[in-house]
Amino acid sequence: MAKWQIGVFASIDAGLGVHLDVAQELGVPTIQVHAPHAGTRNPQAAAAFLKRCSDAGITITAVFGGFEGESYADIATTARTVGLVPEETRAARVQEMKEISDFTKLLNCPTVALHIGFVPHDTSSESYKNLIATTRDLLDHVKANGQQLNLETGQESADHLLQFINDVQRDNLFINFDPANMILYGTGEPIEALKKVGKYVRSIHCKDAKWASADVRGTAWGQEVPLGDGDVGMERYLRTLLEIGYTGPLTIEREIPQDRARQKADIGHAVSLLQNLRSKILS
Ligand code: MG
Repeated sequence: MAKWQIGVFASIDAGLGVHLDVAQELGVPTIQVHAPHAGTRNPQAAAAFLKRCSDAGITITAVFGGFEGESYADIATTARTVGLVPEETRAARVQEMKEISDFTKLLNCPTVALHIGFVPHDTSSESYKNLIATTRDLLDHVKANGQQLNLETGQESADHLLQFINDVQRDNLFINFDPANMILYGTGEPIEALKKVGKYVRSIHCKDAKWASADVRGTAWGQEVPLGDGDVGMERYLRTLLEIGYTGPLTIEREIPQDRARQKADIGHAVSLLQNLRSKILS
């Protein structure tokens, strides 16, 4: 695959990402997708979606899991509802994530990804130990499907994420680095974080955000903004990706599904920005 192919986060059915026709109209050659709902995770749906992608010349590079009951309304709600961390839903969600891994295999895609949730800080707690065991069990299933699992960044600091990966001790656990999330959640300066976790970065998001004001950082959201308008610093971000040896897709994420026209316009703008930076940096 050519270095730094442009990508976009898309949805197979109704969801946060853009629809496939938008990726096609923008001439984007790779996509990550949100896993569809259980009712459409079947071989027929996979074959139909794969055919649409191949007709459009689009490669699927990762499938993101997500679950009923998750809410990103605010940081506290996110901590309570997202990923494999909430204990009441942990067993059911890991089972569903295995099914998503199976569906991902039908899409011939080697990468599943997810927000694992707010990993407990007390690494001696039962909840942490159980999360390690649960993650290992999931990774073994994912590995049997010939896949890796990439954890979305943001909910942990770089150091905490590194510790978690180290404690899980599996060779197919990696990172999907999202610089804007580090800002939105207030978990650390993104470029510094990227350098720390660099060796685990196997996929990335190109997304931008502005920090929440210092008094509420970490408890109130920062603000997601169009690529190039935020505090990430896109040129420095791409130069750092090159430094850590990342040459995979540059997947644009713009989560404003309530405004499809603006979403498309912003993504179109992001595509040009990334194309310009790519020629400047790689030439
Ligand atoms: Mg992201």
